[in-house]
Amino acid sequence: MLKTISLRKAFLVPGFPVVRALPTASCRMVGAWCFLDYFGPRDLETSNEFYIKPHPHIGLQTFTWMLKGSLLHKDSLGNEQIIHPGQVNLMSSGNGIVHSEQSCTPGILEGLQLWIALPESTRHQPPEFNHLAATPYLEEKGCFIHVMVGEYDGIVNPLTLNSPLIGLYIVGKGVKTRLRLRPDFEYALMPLDEGSCLDDVPLTPSNFYYLGTQLRSLNLNIPQDKRMILLGGEPFNEKIIMWWNFVARTKDELREAVAAWNERRFISEMNDEHEERMQAPLLP
Ligand code: MN
Repeated sequence: MLKTISLRKAFLVPGFPVVRALPTASCRMVGAWCFLDYFGPRDLETSNEFYIKPHPHIGLQTFTWMLKGSLLHKDSLGNEQIIHPGQVNLMSSGNGIVHSEQSCTPGILEGLQLWIALPESTRHQPPEFNHLAATPYLEEKGCFIHVMVGEYDGIVNPLTLNSPLIGLYIVGKGVKTRLRLRPDFEYALMPLDEGSCLDDVPLTPSNFYYLGTQLRSLNLNIPQDKRMILLGGEPFNEKIIMWWNFVARTKDELREAVAAWNERRFISEMNDEHEERMQAPLLP
């Protein structure tokens, strides 16, 4: 099953357009992956031009992967961490965390932010932040594979997950390659550059490709140095609802999170209380 989904334009902050692949009406999740924004490439003139003000999260993990440039993450646990290409910032919100993200140098900024929905068993736990300084990596005949999360062909990423999941960042070598998949996982592809093919079907970076389950392999041809993301996971069997930066199970829960944040009684706050913070939009 190959389902082609058009990417939509969204705004992360005013003046900074991003391309959003998840969620869409025809594809809400891939495994526990529930949100995917691609930002850039954008040529920043000043070092802190890109700034996402302090905002809260519940019920999810944020997963950041830089393609070019770097970002500084700060959170209410007191973490301050710069992330560069090849590294991962994985923040588990659990029952509530606040963070901000900003660029630290002028120049090209390009990257991905994804969210992973937390299952009922862990979504009420305290928050946690992890930085992976070097992502495990392997080379195949037709591509280089960075194991952003999960395990591929015995190469294990050490970051702790809460449901069976995989995320691969693949860089092509211009010859055919066959990826080995798990039939119990559902998968999706997001090409970041032109020119790649799945079997003989050309893939374009304006689309997101949902592949479904029951696949044992994937025949890709990715041109030299062209990039692609493969996401996968065991289909997530809990019904989630999302609003703004929150993932929950009921509207009441979302309303309470919005109110708590806006009324400054959220479970945590950034240490620098003078920093301007985002306002949560009310539920309809
Ligand atoms: Mn965030």
